[in-house]
Amino acid sequence: MRIGIFSDVHGNIEALEVVLQALQYENIDRMICLGDLVGYGPNPNQCVEKVIEEVDHVVAGNHDYAAIDQVSTEYFNEYARKAIDWTHDVLTSASIQILTRLPLISIEEEITYVHATPEEPAEWRYIFSNEDACRSFDAMTTSLCFVGHSHTPVAFVRNEADEISICDPTEVSIEEGKKYIINEGSVGQPRDGDPRACYGVLDTEGKRFNLKRLPYPVDRVQEKMWKEHLPSYLIHRLSVGL
Ligand code: ZN
Repeated sequence: MRIGIFSDVHGNIEALEVVLQALQYENIDRMICLGDLVGYGPNPNQCVEKVIEEVDHVVAGNHDYAAIDQVSTEYFNEYARKAIDWTHDVLTSASIQILTRLPLISIEEEITYVHATPEEPAEWRYIFSNEDACRSFDAMTTSLCFVGHSHTPVAFVRNEADEISICDPTEVSIEEGKKYIINEGSVGQPRDGDPRACYGVLDTEGKRFNLKRLPYPVDRVQEKMWKEHLPSYLIHRLSVGL
């Protein structure tokens, strides 16, 4: 089976459309979205609609829940909070209903999908270090786990001796006896210094994961964000991917 996986769309319909179009040519059997459909970007309703229409399974991100008052924005920085307040005001009741129903975590065909961490998905912690990854590996009941949340593509691997290493997610071969936590980056707001949209393809027969990047019309999104008076910091960061 070939599974298309992407995350952190953040109301960026231009980036989402480019990714969905590319996935049409990838012979995908199943498509998964790891949350944060909304927040930051100017087209939250269009993104919710499109993801629900085209994706087979979606889990919730912290921005999805924050936009519908299901989690507090207390720990959000001021830019994220401003964008969430704006998103909250423009969400349609149809979008709210969809976001309310999204689960925090799911396991399908021996693969875990979650926005933040598998051990406590509602705590919205990040997996940045080997220590963070260790906690998540201990909690995993599957050998493969896909996460989003940090907007930074990375793959953590734990071998049979329980040693954890970090590897380049561009191409990961999935080996028997090892465990993997893979972050396939962000569609709508990458933060690894590359502004191009990210998505991943897992080939379960070929036992391989590939991370791909695609350019999209960033200026078109920025123009809409200016019009909506969204914070300039959020507008500028899309050009540099940081
Ligand atoms: Zn996010």
